[in-house]
Amino acid sequence: MKLNLNDTFNKELPADPNTENRVRQVPNAAFSYVSPTKPKNPSIIHVSPQMLEAIGLNEKDAKSEEFLKIFSGAEIYPDTKPFAMAYAGHQFGNWAGQLGDGRAINLFEVDHNAQQWALQLKGAGRTPYSRGADGLAVLRSSIREYLCSEAMFHLGVPTTRALSLVLTGDDVWRDILYNGKPDWEKGAIVCRVAPSFIRFGNFQIFMVQQDLENLKKLTDYTIRHFFPHLGEPSKETYIEFFREVTEKTLEMIIHWERVGFVHGVMNTDNMSILGLTIDYGPYGWLEDYDPNWTPNTTDAGQKRYRFGNQASVGVWNLMQLGNALYPLIEDAEPLEEILENYQKNYLPKHVRMMSDKLGFKQAADAEFILGLETLLYRSEMDLTLFFRNLSKFNEDNPDEFWTLLEDSSYSETLENFKEKWTDFLENYAEILIAENREKAEKISQMNLTNPKYVLRNYMAQLAIDAADEGDYSLVEELFNLLLKPYDEQPETEKWFALRPDWAKTKVGCSMLSCSS
Ligand code: AMP
Ligand code: MG
Repeated sequence: MKLNLNDTFNKELPADPNTENRVRQVPNAAFSYVSPTKPKNPSIIHVSPQMLEAIGLNEKDAKSEEFLKIFSGAEIYPDTKPFAMAYAGHQFGNWAGQLGDGRAINLFEVDHNAQQWALQLKGAGRTPYSRGADGLAVLRSSIREYLCSEAMFHLGVPTTRALSLVLTGDDVWRDILYNGKPDWEKGAIVCRVAPSFIRFGNFQIFMVQQDLENLKKLTDYTIRHFFPHLGEPSKETYIEFFREVTEKTLEMIIHWERVGFVHGVMNTDNMSILGLTIDYGPYGWLEDYDPNWTPNTTDAGQKRYRFGNQASVGVWNLMQLGNALYPLIEDAEPLEEILENYQKNYLPKHVRMMSDKLGFKQAADAEFILGLETLLYRSEMDLTLFFRNLSKFNEDNPDEFWTLLEDSSYSETLENFKEKWTDFLENYAEILIAENREKAEKISQMNLTNPKYVLRNYMAQLAIDAADEGDYSLVEELFNLLLKPYDEQPETEKWFALRPDWAKTKVGCSMLSCSS
């Protein structure tokens, strides 16, 4: 196994001089060196062929003993120095102080095909940032992270990736719902991959330590490697950097809205500086269209991170990033203007995205979109089924669509909304007729915007239940299904269906906690 190493983060940024692996406050450092904990009896469950190729490895490498050792944390790749990153953050709106990689250990960076990739193990044991926790991850959450990161990529949503899913052979003590009923679970490790894992919180930690020198080093590093087109660091460059992060964050959230993804824990330490979806914990997929829904039971009271609130939380988080960058800029006005633009741009971008889902060339009226969303909500329409079926809508005969509405709804009283739907469909038909688009072109746009398959919560749970018994065939099946989420795949049509009744209230399907 030959990797084209090119470490930058641990070479260009300040290391914690203390190399003891003991929980502590780490001042004035971007990271602490730490080695993964050796797993008891590691075995590979799955490797992503696409990611393997992206980092310059092949199938043979993936089957080697060395691959298993490196990506389970049993051994350290030659000439590399693993480390955990220091970061802070706001959790659920409150300042939480130092957090850091409590159970992620960065292995190394590689260059392949002119792309820089950082690789890190999630669940490879304690670090100086583990606070009171064990640094481990369990099989169920690792399967969820592994499948979802690759699925999101193939859906066209900016995201961190996953290279491998490994069983450690160790058992992990977990209280799934924090209800005083802990149990042993199988331990696992996902090797996550991204150009960088830097989060808003990496900037926040230097701001709160009033460490201007390191704040500047980190910002310059980020710009040099990931925003090189912005040029040499200066106050103007930092402002432009903030503008781009703001735009990327908004783009990412609009994608989440398009596919029905709820992150679940949008704390500032879970916000990537590259605008990537990061940290798949108690995330979920919207089934019946409910903007108030969050899968995260830890957030059940406040529902801060509910589907319909993600764009607002995005700007709140960006404001925290703006505060962290302020000492480098010392001028609040341009930062405020950028945040105001985010807010101004949100609705038009949301409407444009929804118009794409509807097959429109011109952006629709915001009123029309909001009216549809209310109707989807009230008639408990499955987001994925509704929009995918919509490409079958015939504007010359709007009423015909009723049966597909019935097939896409969880409501037992759908009839009550028939009149409202009739009005909507007639208006919809009118717009389509006025636009007079080539049918094939319209359908193709819709089918590239509205996925046929997403990783419904119950699908991941079925894969987890089987994997717990040692059967990984469903992990493989779902992984392959989600490589082509926009394609018709007749042999797997069973996944294009309403959520089964049993899944509505099952733990893991609609209820998840941060206890991963
Ligand atoms: P999260 O919001 O779940 O991504 O995690 C918040 C913080 O808790 C991060 O600093 C994580 O590294 C840390 N953390 C979460 N789970 C564990 C664990 N099992 N062991 C150590 N640290 C953890
Ligand atoms: Mg996190």
